Amino acid sequence: NKRVLLARRPEGLPKPSDFRLEEVTIPAPKEGELLLRILFLSLDPYMRGRMDAGESYAAPVEIGEVMDGGTVAEVVVSRHKDFVKGEILLSYSGWQSYALSDGQGLRKLDPAAAPVSTALGVLGMPGFTAYAGLLTIGRPKPGETVVVAAASGAVGSAVGQIAKIKGARAVGIAGGLAKCAFVLENLGFDAAIDRRAPDFARRLKEACPKGIDIYFENVGGAVWDAVFPLLNDFARIPVCGLIADYNMSAPFPGPDRLPVVMDQVLTKSLTIRGFIQREFADQRPAFYSEMSQWIRGGRLRYREDVVDGLDNAPDAFIGLLQGRNFGKLVVRVL
Ligand code: NDP
Repeated sequence: NKRVLLARRPEGLPKPSDFRLEEVTIPAPKEGELLLRILFLSLDPYMRGRMDAGESYAAPVEIGEVMDGGTVAEVVVSRHKDFVKGEILLSYSGWQSYALSDGQGLRKLDPAAAPVSTALGVLGMPGFTAYAGLLTIGRPKPGETVVVAAASGAVGSAVGQIAKIKGARAVGIAGGLAKCAFVLENLGFDAAIDRRAPDFARRLKEACPKGIDIYFENVGGAVWDAVFPLLNDFARIPVCGLIADYNMSAPFPGPDRLPVVMDQVLTKSLTIRGFIQREFADQRPAFYSEMSQWIRGGRLRYREDVVDGLDNAPDAFIGLLQGRNFGKLVVRVL
C-alpha cells in the first residue's frame, strides 16, 4: 500500500520535499468495514489550504498524515452488509492506493452511466460548484456577458458552457494559446483571452464590448484587476476561488484597493457573494440529472488531465497551482 503524507508545511508554492511517499502493508478490514482499492485520486486547488496550519473552512492535514482527497475506489473485500466486492464507489480516501472504510459517506457509481473518473470532475464536486455557483448566485440571463478564468479547468469549463446553455455570452480566460484554442473551439465559448499575454487587460475589454454582467471568480490576482473596471451596474460575482493567492505567504503588495472596490460595490450595486459548494447540497440531484443530460446531448464537454501513478501526485499537484494541468486533474492510482 503506497501513500503520500504531508512531510512539512509549505512556504509559498509547495515543493516535492513537502510530501513523503511511503509503503505500508495493506490493512485488513474488521467486521463492518470495507477494503477499498483506489482507482482514481482527484487533485484539487483546495488541497493547498489543507497543507497550512490554522482554520480554513476545513481542518488542516496534520504533518505525518495522509493527504486528503476525493477518490474513486473498488471494493476488494467487504465485511459490510451494504456493499459487495467489485462495486465502484466515490469515497474520500486520500492520497493512497488502499484504504479502509466503515461505509460512511460513500456513493455507489454506475460504470455504465459515465466513465467513473467523472465522479471527481464534471459529474462531481467541481461540476457541481460551477452549476450551483453560476445558477444560484450568478443567475445568467440571455444576452448577458459571463466571464470566467481557469476556463479550460474543471470548474471554469462547466461555468462557460452552462452560461451558453442559458443563452448568455461566455468569455473565458486561460493560460496560454493551447488552452484558449480549446476553450473557443472545443468548448464553444464566444471568446478566449490568454491571461499571460502582455496586453491581456486590453484584449479582455475588447472581448466584452457590453461590459461584464457576471464574473465567476476562480483566480483573483491580476485577472481580477482587469475584470473589475469592466463590471456593469448590478453585476453579480460568485466568489468561488482565488487560486492566484493560495501560495502567498507575504502581505499583498501594492496600495490598499479596498476603498475603490467598496466605492464601486456601492455605486454600481454589485453583488459579491462567496460560497463553498456544499452549502448548496440540496441542489445535487438536480445538478446530476441536468448535467448528465447536457453531456449526453453533446451540449457540455469536459476534458480530463490524467496522470499515471501515485508517485507523480505531488508533482502534478504543484503543477496545478501553476496552470500546468490542462483539464480536470486526476491521478490514475493503479
Ligand atoms: P482547474 O482545473 O481550473 O486548475 C487550476 C487552474 O487555475 C490552472 O490550470 C490555471 O489555469 C489556473 N491558475 C493557476 N494559477 C493561477 C494564477 N496565479 N492566476 C490565474 N489562474 C491561475 O481547477 P478547479 O476547476 O478545480 O478550480 C478552479 C477554482 O475553483 C479554484 O480557485 C478552486 O479553489 C475553486 N473551487 C472552489 C470551490 C468552492 O466550493 N468554492 C469548489 C471547487 C473549486 P490557466 O493556466 O488557464 O490560467
